[in-house]
Amino acid sequence: MDIRRIGWAALVTVIILIAVLPVPEFWITQLNYIGIGTLAVLGLILLTGVGGLTSFGQAAFVGIGAYTSAYLTINAGLSPWLTLLIGLALTTASALVLGWITLRMSGHYLPLATLGWGLSLYYLMGNMDALGKYDGMLNIPGLSLWGRDIGHGRVFFLLTSALVLLGILSLTFLLDSRAGRAIRALKSGSQMAESMGVNTIRFKIGIFLLAALFASLSGWLYAHYQRSVNPSPFGVQIGIEYMFMAVLGGVGHVWGALVGVTITKLLADQLQVLLPRLIGTSGSYESIVFGVLLVLILKYAPDGIWAFVDRKVPKRQRAADWEDAPALAERAKPATGELLLDVKAVRKEFGGLIAVNDISFQIMAGQIIGLIGPNGAGKSTTFNLVTGVLGLTRGAVTFRGETISGLSAREIARKGLGRTFQHVKMIPDMTVLENVALGAHMRGHKGVLSAMTRLDRAEEQTLLKEAQRQLERIGMGDYLHDMAGNLAMGPQRLLEIARALCSDPALLLLDEPAAGLRHKEKQALIEVLRQLQREGMSILLVEHDMDLVMDVCDRLVVMEFGTRLMEGTPREVQQSPEVRAAYLGTEH
Ligand code: ADP
Ligand code: MG
Repeated sequence: MDIRRIGWAALVTVIILIAVLPVPEFWITQLNYIGIGTLAVLGLILLTGVGGLTSFGQAAFVGIGAYTSAYLTINAGLSPWLTLLIGLALTTASALVLGWITLRMSGHYLPLATLGWGLSLYYLMGNMDALGKYDGMLNIPGLSLWGRDIGHGRVFFLLTSALVLLGILSLTFLLDSRAGRAIRALKSGSQMAESMGVNTIRFKIGIFLLAALFASLSGWLYAHYQRSVNPSPFGVQIGIEYMFMAVLGGVGHVWGALVGVTITKLLADQLQVLLPRLIGTSGSYESIVFGVLLVLILKYAPDGIWAFVDRKVPKRQRAADWEDAPALAERAKPATGELLLDVKAVRKEFGGLIAVNDISFQIMAGQIIGLIGPNGAGKSTTFNLVTGVLGLTRGAVTFRGETISGLSAREIARKGLGRTFQHVKMIPDMTVLENVALGAHMRGHKGVLSAMTRLDRAEEQTLLKEAQRQLERIGMGDYLHDMAGNLAMGPQRLLEIARALCSDPALLLLDEPAAGLRHKEKQALIEVLRQLQREGMSILLVEHDMDLVMDVCDRLVVMEFGTRLMEGTPREVQQSPEVRAAYLGTEH
């Protein structure tokens, strides 16, 4: 049996045993707080660990859930079940507004903004008369269901445990899906994901919202378990503590939430007893211990405690259950010889530097066009102008008769331009198959909710089948379940080509695919390019390596210092004295 199943079964058994055995009430209480905390940290694992968005404002969302329910049950006499929904709705509204404003910020602005958000909410809670100021609110009703009290002790433990397990399960499902791949791609910057058709800002807001909802649920449980609220558990300091727990447990691992919260809680209890004995005075010296601990973890176990467990658990070799899935629909391809890409006098200036000086060329369907030139000639810049990564200073690009200059990289990808990157951009801790399936993002549409509830499986199978097909197409069939991060450079480049093919492109753009390849790997690449050409694929190849382009291209555009030096067949280019001078002048 799968070790994961055994783990789940063991955990459920332990939970039931704890509930029925005479475990001291003190421990049940501890476990209940651990469960409540785990829900909030689970959100952080998704947001910060997986999505790479650092937030210290998680505790504030816990506060929104807690205060909404406290206020409405006390003052309006509403049922806690109803106020749970109202709290979630209020959380949704504030997370959307806040996310909309802050998630466009880059670098350190986001954590700073969440600190600001956490502080303002803390002072708001502490200064509003209606919320009882810093004293908070007392006499919050406990939870009951059909007249039965489920608000404390073992029943509450079962409720919290069930919610934690559901949370862990749904996030595990989410990360193993189309939406999950998009979320996992966010961390390494949005450029690659956008080029795969992922609307990165939407997914960022999505995980911000989801994390906030987990926090809000945690706050609701907290308010009705504790039966009182005050601002202190929802301040920025607790927000930082949540982050500590996530980092300790393993910020990239869903199970890390449970581990991090449990250890922190138990340790805090021990320290509260131990430290006064050691130091002689009482005070909150735990913070210092936690601070030291955090530094040690970041230094010696940056992936957290769960990473050690994760390494021991054999990676699940996903059963290929997608063999019978129907093939994905393909876009209508241009007829051979049709004008596919028309680059019309494109220009790019960086300040005073003219990186691309009115370059024009065309690609007919079925052709492989090489864009060559010495280092710094402007090849990559031209490539980025066509793919929408950079904006044009002047000129126009049309693709299949439609103007694409001015569109975003994502919109251009949707039109049917598949691309690779000069510096390979993949997700190292995802399998080759999953990485390639990210390329098929635009061909599916199941979102976060269907993924969390596993209602996405039929579509998921079609996407994985396509990924496998494209990998096999270019001879990478043996690598499906390897971690992408373990690949050598040659297979990495092929992975990127398979990922681009997965988007069903009408034109493939490759930026220096031979860079860093060994001789044998280069031969394999040439084979793949020839095969794609035979299959009728149109390719724009930006390349530095002369042998490769001479070998596979139908025509070449030679650039030097941003301008077009000449255009012609490989033979004509080889015989041109200007090209020789350009290359010999800057190289060898
Ligand atoms: P190639 O890919 O042919 O080696 P690039 O297109 O990368 O050349 O660069 C062309 C010129 O534009 C170089 O002089 C380079 O320094 C400059 N350049 C490229 N990107 C930028 C940028 N973002 N800002 C300023 N200058 C740039
Ligand atoms: Mg370049």
